[in-house]
Amino acid sequence: MTDAVVELTEVSQRYGDVVALADTNLVIGRGELVAIVGPSGSGKSTMLNIMGTLSRPTSGHVRVDGHPVEELNDRELSALRAGTIGFVFQQFHLTAGIPVLDSVADGLLYSGTPRAERRRLSETALRRVGLGHRLYHEPHQLSGGEKQRVAIARAVLGDPPLLLADEPTGALDSRSGATVLELLHELNEAGTTVVVITHDRDVAASLPREVRLKDGRIEHDSADPAAGDRGIPGRRAAGRDLPGQDGAGREIAAAAPGAER
Ligand code: ADP
Ligand code: MG
Repeated sequence: MTDAVVELTEVSQRYGDVVALADTNLVIGRGELVAIVGPSGSGKSTMLNIMGTLSRPTSGHVRVDGHPVEELNDRELSALRAGTIGFVFQQFHLTAGIPVLDSVADGLLYSGTPRAERRRLSETALRRVGLGHRLYHEPHQLSGGEKQRVAIARAVLGDPPLLLADEPTGALDSRSGATVLELLHELNEAGTTVVVITHDRDVAASLPREVRLKDGRIEHDSADPAAGDRGIPGRRAAGRDLPGQDGAGREIAAAAPGAER
């Protein structure tokens, strides 16, 4: 048993000569709400896709909800994803002409759940994101913020312990973006571990933990002030630790809300 939902150990991702992610170590505890920030091309999506088991790293070890990802075959990986991880992207990926109740219900299409039950769960998820009055709307009848809330409903349909969001507010105006952020906070308060990539500095600063990437390395981790000194070659250790930390931020992770789940 472990309190960590995501553990990256010496994880690297190379594309030919490009090092998208370099020797990255990161532990995300159950119940955390973490912002991943950094300039375009710094490796944020690469890291999130590896956490989500959507891609296998070139080297290093990945554990998700305690499962060693490199030891799983594709079928086991699909099962882990289906049961453990919800994804939200900048684009909403909703099918035109399909009522949102069905779009969301289709998230359980391959789970063996009967159609009536899928629709019941879909309705519950849509109510949870504040769209109980939009069940039969089609995507073109919804605002951008509402579409993203539908996408979040679909992502949390099976109540996965881990929600990964890649720039979920990137296509939204600031008011809709704020609503989506509020929703992520609510889901986190209800026990879901949330990792969200954002360009928005204010958003990142409003979250309990901020991990900043630069050139494929962790430049700063607010839960582990020494991480940047380890991550960026040639940088000297700052030599100061926050009280109550073990240097890897583990005590903070264990004490995060929802850690008892
Ligand atoms: P971010 O999400 O922070 O903008 P990415 O993780 O998408 O950054 O990309 C990190 C680096 O890896 C970039 O230099 C990007 O061009 C490169 N990269 C990402 N995916 C691929 C790929 N499939 N093939 C080649 N290079 C890639
Ligand atoms: Mg990206």
